[in-house]
Formats: sequence, structure tokens, C-alpha cells
Amino acid sequence: MALPGPLRGKTPFGPGSATIDLFPGITPNQNFKNRKEVFMIIKMSAKAQHEEIERVRKKVEELGYVAKIFQGEMKSVIHVIGVTDRERLIKSVESLPGVESLIPILSPFKLASREFHPDDTIISLNGKQIGGEILSIIAGPCAVESEGMMMELASALKEAGAQFLRGGAFKPRSSPYSFQGLGEKGLEILARAREKTGLLIVTEVLSEIDVPLVYKYADILQIGARNMQNFPLLKTVGRFNKPVLLKRGMSATIEEWLMAAEYILAEGNPNVILCERGIRTFETYTRNTLDISAVPVVKYHSHLPIIIDPSHASGDARYVNSLAKAGIAAGADGIMVEVHPDPANALSDGKQSLRLEAFKELMAEIKKIAETVGRKL
Ligand code: PEP
Ligand code: MN
Repeated sequence: MALPGPLRGKTPFGPGSATIDLFPGITPNQNFKNRKEVFMIIKMSAKAQHEEIERVRKKVEELGYVAKIFQGEMKSVIHVIGVTDRERLIKSVESLPGVESLIPILSPFKLASREFHPDDTIISLNGKQIGGEILSIIAGPCAVESEGMMMELASALKEAGAQFLRGGAFKPRSSPYSFQGLGEKGLEILARAREKTGLLIVTEVLSEIDVPLVYKYADILQIGARNMQNFPLLKTVGRFNKPVLLKRGMSATIEEWLMAAEYILAEGNPNVILCERGIRTFETYTRNTLDISAVPVVKYHSHLPIIIDPSHASGDARYVNSLAKAGIAAGADGIMVEVHPDPANALSDGKQSLRLEAFKELMAEIKKIAETVGRKL
């Protein structure tokens, strides 16, 4: 199937190369063409009549903007997208009957902001949820290494209470000589593990050109820390509707991270999950420093779900349990933990990988913490 606009592109191999369909057979989100900035929210009064709300919507559309009506329990609000002349909008709308107030969205990220979307986002995915009352537990090895290992581990993780299986088929390694992942073969293994266990698959997509392939197999596309500001990649995953797990860059501020999420949302994909995986500091006794404050800060500024990755944050299996529990206690919506049947011989990140037994213990302890913070496993 031919795709519209930006999805048809030149091959990345330089001038003169043929125009190809980069993503054959994949339907992008319909609304990606409407990529616009959200600027204003019109709050209607509690007494506003349906006709009054409709009149405001029509006025907004006459001015050339997109209007979306959200019916709350008490009041309706209208999101106005694509505003270029704020003064004109205010003048045209503020005195219409039923209008209570106009609120400009001031934060640099719009769609990711709580101003835009006051309620927590809950992502539904094949009968599972991310965000909301139930904690999301993502577990698995750093990399998919072999079919036998993956199948056995997946069953054990499922039994221990995980709902999602992680494992990289494309690995971002610091050295080009380190194991780079099994590629498509790894994705096929993940798909078979899903078939066997029902666990949903979280796996990393390293580059734009791999998106169609990873999309075919994954339930959640992971964008790694090193790619957090790979804007072409962010835009590409934004054009599809599978959830994206966006890891925080190791030296990214929370604002930069939320702006990266905005790139995905602005393309029409509302399903973004943030993942705090530790940032670089002067500390050397841990691989990174888990920024636990990112949890309440993100929750304050954004409606997007946020999970904690204690494995990459600490770099050491010894500390994973504490950090995971701290994340849940701080209000995170879940955790992503590396688990390996034989950490000493893992092809990547063995030092920070939990053994199965340790993972089971962690699950039991998290259950208790979850209860005290009003969450469930
Ligand atoms: C991973 O999840 O295995 C990974 C490479 O993580 P990060 O991008 O956070 O380093
Ligand atoms: Mn890893």
C-alpha cells in the first residue's frame, strides 16, 4: 500500500537513490497530517448548553483552527489546536454565551502537559493497561540471546507476575565490537514467547529504518536513552499507534525529555510511556543515578505514565530491589527490570540482571508497597 506524504521518502543512501515506500503495508495514524500546536483551552461554564458549546466550536473552526470538545462530568472544555493569532481568538470567543475562560497552555510541551490533559493517561493494550491502578511489570533479559533461554524465562516471568516481556533484538552498545543483538531473528523469538505466554513484548527500535520491522513484532516500541533526541526516529514512531516507551536520555533534563515525548504526540500517537533509567552524575559507585524526583515532577507536569528502570539506573543487581521499590513508593506506574537465568554469562548487562529468584522476591515486596500507595499488581 502506498503511504501519503512524509512516509514516502528517499532511501537514506544519498542523492540519486530511488524513491521507495519506506513502510509498505503499514497504516499510519490518520491524524498525523494534522500535526499542530495546541495553544488554548476554552473552559465552558457548568451551565453551558449544547448549542452554546457548538457555537464556540464553529467559531473556532471559522478562524481556521481545529477544535476538540471534551465533555467532563461538570463542564466541557474545548481544545483549540493550531492557534496562530491568540488575540483574535480571544476577542472572537470570550464574549460568546457559555464561555467561562480561555487558558493558554504556557508550558513548552503542550500535548504532554497536564494543562492539556488533567487526568492521568491510561494506555490500554490487548487487555492490559499502563497507568492507572495496576502497576506494569516489564521483565526480561537485556538482549534476546537464544530461543530456548527466552521461552523458559518468559514462562517463569509470567508465573512470577510480569505482564510484559522485554529483550533487545537491536542493541545500542557502547562498543561496535560488543554483541549487537539478533535482529529479526530476535524479534521472531520474542513473538513466539508472546504466543506461548501471553506476555506483551517491549523491544527497542534503534533507527528510523527499522521501525516497520520492529512494529511488526513488538507491542511496545522502546526508544533508548541514547536515542531520546533522535527526532526523525521520534517522529516516525509517532506516526504509528503502538505505544512507545521513551527512555530518558542520560543527560537530559525533564523538560527535554517531555519535549521528546511531545514529538511523538504531535505526530498523532498519544501512547507514550516515560521511563526514568538513571542519569549521569559524578557518582561512580552506580552506573547512573536514579532520579527518583523525576517521578513526582513528571506526574505534576504531565499526564503520561512513567515507569522506573532500576537496572540501568544502578548497573548492579545488588541495588535493583531497593530502587524498584523506591520508584513504586514515589508513584511510578511500573518498573522495567532486567532478569537473566545466568547473569554471569549474559551477553549484555549481566552485572545488573536479577536472577529469577531475586525477581520473585522483588515482586513479593513490591506487592506490599503497592498496597500502601493504593496500587495493585
Ligand atoms: C536497555 O533497556 O537495554 C537499554 C539499552 O537501556 P538504555 O537505553 O536506558 O541504556
Ligand atoms: Mn540493558
